[in-house]
Amino acid sequence: MAEGGGRSNPNVPVYEYVDINTQVFHVGSFRQLWLDSLPPDVYSFEELDEEAQDAKFSEEFGVPAETLAELRAICSVDSLKSYPDDEPPDTSVVPPDPQLACLRLRKRKQDYKNSLAKDYTGRHDAYTNEMELQSVGRKPADADNAVPEGEIVLTFNIVYPVIFYRFKYVRPHQTLQVLGSQKLAELRDAICCVSDLQVFGEFSSVPDAVPQFVSKDHYKSAFFYFEGVFYNDMRYPECRDISQTTREWAKTRDFPAFTVAKMEETTFYDLKVKIGYPYLYCHQGDCEHVVILTDIRLIHRDDCRDRKLYPLLTYKHRVVTRKCSVCHLYISRWITTNDSLAPMDPCLFCDQCFRLLHYDKEGNKIAPFKAYSYVDPGAFN
Ligand SMILES: [Zn+2]
Ligand SMILES: [Zn+2]
Repeated sequence: MAEGGGRSNPNVPVYEYVDINTQVFHVGSFRQLWLDSLPPDVYSFEELDEEAQDAKFSEEFGVPAETLAELRAICSVDSLKSYPDDEPPDTSVVPPDPQLACLRLRKRKQDYKNSLAKDYTGRHDAYTNEMELQSVGRKPADADNAVPEGEIVLTFNIVYPVIFYRFKYVRPHQTLQVLGSQKLAELRDAICCVSDLQVFGEFSSVPDAVPQFVSKDHYKSAFFYFEGVFYNDMRYPECRDISQTTREWAKTRDFPAFTVAKMEETTFYDLKVKIGYPYLYCHQGDCEHVVILTDIRLIHRDDCRDRKLYPLLTYKHRVVTRKCSVCHLYISRWITTNDSLAPMDPCLFCDQCFRLLHYDKEGNKIAPFKAYSYVDPGAFN
């Protein structure tokens, strides 16, 4: 990226504040500039065969073919081998009474390791690895879902909202990759936030009647804010323009005019943005997430090339789950208040403990209390 100051083309991003954010540019035009100036083989998914690669290398670096062959022989991995391919030595065997300090060290380490319990990989790490394996260089089963060459990949960090008290002093986030040709609404659908999953109401008398409808089904309005434009989600009849209050308030103050657009009709190519600049995603009325575009680039052959997998989750902050206060084992599903049976107020329970403690065999409440559905932020881990 170029340093700030004069820029000849307004669609080439340059720094506004060095190492922090760029000036505004149009994503689609920026991509076009790349496509106009790069030879197609640079962003092609096709890999040249070895011979063609060599020829290209000789030409670019002005190295004659013989020199290249010599370099290849000298730098070959084979020249590093100290044993034949079919007789690999067992590297875990340390000779008895080793004289070398490094071998003695190794022996000590080996003995120590053997004394430990089996190495344990966290399920989260296993899951992350698995996710990565699923997407790296992945090609679509159906050619219709192939991402075309020259497509743009944008990386967004979605920060958790400040209304979650636990996140007041840390800023955990999730990272998502989207394609330039995708609609803003697709990013919206990929953002997972517990605010969307709340169930409103008190259910102590009818614990089985907790409705399957969560906040997301009731309150569908949301918007993204980028560079003076509120992109509203208007896909459903019950959606409202929840940016209206803000815009009207701004009109009475000394703000530049804000405009509105629809997120389901806007692609990322249509956007004018700054890289590194904090924008906003707002849903459920007041659940406000800072959204930062951290990277923009052409798609590479090693990227996931299955359009259906985008927006692609590449990072997710893990939250410590709150366990049931009875069994300390399962993630909480219920929260009670004014509960004489509970050790504290409010108190969290898993479904099973909640029912065993509060109801008799016929399913009647055995003490007065209020119960609400609880969604743990760690349920997404
Ligand atoms: Zn939220
Ligand atoms: Zn429990």
